[in-house]
Amino acid sequence: MGTTASLGHSGSTRQVSTFCALCVSRCGATATVRDGTLVALEPAPDHPTGHALCVKGKAAPELVYHRDRVLHPLKRTNPKGAPDPGWQRISWDEALDTIAERLTTLARESGPECVAFGTASPSTSAMSDSVDWVTRLRRAFGSPNLCGYMESCGWGRYLAPTYTYGMPVPGAFVPDLEQAGCILYWGYNPSISRLAHATSTVAAVARGARLVVVDPRRAGLAGKAHHWLRVRPGTDATLALSLTHVMIEQGWFGLRKAVA
Ligand code: SF4
Repeated sequence: MGTTASLGHSGSTRQVSTFCALCVSRCGATATVRDGTLVALEPAPDHPTGHALCVKGKAAPELVYHRDRVLHPLKRTNPKGAPDPGWQRISWDEALDTIAERLTTLARESGPECVAFGTASPSTSAMSDSVDWVTRLRRAFGSPNLCGYMESCGWGRYLAPTYTYGMPVPGAFVPDLEQAGCILYWGYNPSISRLAHATSTVAAVARGARLVVVDPRRAGLAGKAHHWLRVRPGTDATLALSLTHVMIEQGWFGLRKAVA
């Protein structure tokens, strides 16, 4: 969790303004810390993204203190494939020196391009606030190779702008849901993957925005949509082309934007 400021004390219990750093939604939150121990994480309705927390955020105390959480660098002492890896705790200095030595040896012998850097998805992991530093490290090292992954709910957000504008819309960007008159979610279920978008969408619908959801399942916001378009899996392109056809036929598009 990213602690920002202390709000107040009550005996040995403190309420701390913070945010959940477990995904790109970065939901605003209030942490309860009792005798130095995190005991609860709750929504912070005054924060722009703090209207709700998902189960991951609410489980913050369990995650922070889970016995399987890796808190220190570990070094494998048995060969790969051995039933027991033989993890041995080492210092941060030893871990960093080992990694630096291996990377510089690889770069010297085979060129930095032989190394691929990999990260978890910033959309749904705690890499949200770190992925830029991995990118900086990779570029400074000289490798163009990055392995990552994206959840299926992010494909539309990433690929549609890439096809339309030539560039993706980074996950950290927030659409202008407060001003939107019509919101179209296509294979995107923010109720489980981007809570801040979900709560903002519910608020937008409450003030009069229209909501259209394209999804085979009546999941998440599909239940609140004015139009739930239940596509048969694999027929999204047919629906998209049909909508495009109607828009062209009816002249429902801006010509200057379309040809720019
Ligand atoms: S959606 Fe869940 S995991 Fe992501 S920041 Fe909010 S509470 Fe944390």
